[in-house]
Amino acid sequence: MPIDSKQPYDDGNIFAKILKGDLPCKKVMENEHVLAFHDINPLAPVHVLVIPKGPYVSWDDFSETASDVEIAALTRAVGEVAKMVGADAQGYRVLSNVGKRAGQEVPHLHIHIFGGQPLGPMLA
Ligand code: 5GP
Repeated sequence: MPIDSKQPYDDGNIFAKILKGDLPCKKVMENEHVLAFHDINPLAPVHVLVIPKGPYVSWDDFSETASDVEIAALTRAVGEVAKMVGADAQGYRVLSNVGKRAGQEVPHLHIHIFGGQPLGPMLA
């Protein structure tokens, strides 16, 4: 069920549990502000999620309240992770769903990185 991007942060969400170590993930990289891991249900040969460690539901609250350091760290991580998984050589797609109309399912901000195959005009 898609979430409301304006809802308060729920620290029992799946990605919060991954961040706490209560659920496993296939980690790609981690630093002070960011965690990146393989999607459990990949839609392409490369499908990695990059998330901030802070409690943000979506780009709405992240853009408003995250520090410049957190914003820079998340942005920088996208290119780093794409390189680490070998998606940078032939191109990749960066996508982030925000709220109901976009079909955001997990109420913790995340960026999808897709690659490893021709991606067509869009992934629905
Ligand atoms: P959204 O639709 O919210 O943009 O994407 C959520 C993504 O999280 C989906 O691609 C889904 O497969 C992934 N996902 C959901 N639960 C888990 C989980 O427990 N572990 C991992 N690694 N990915 C998950």
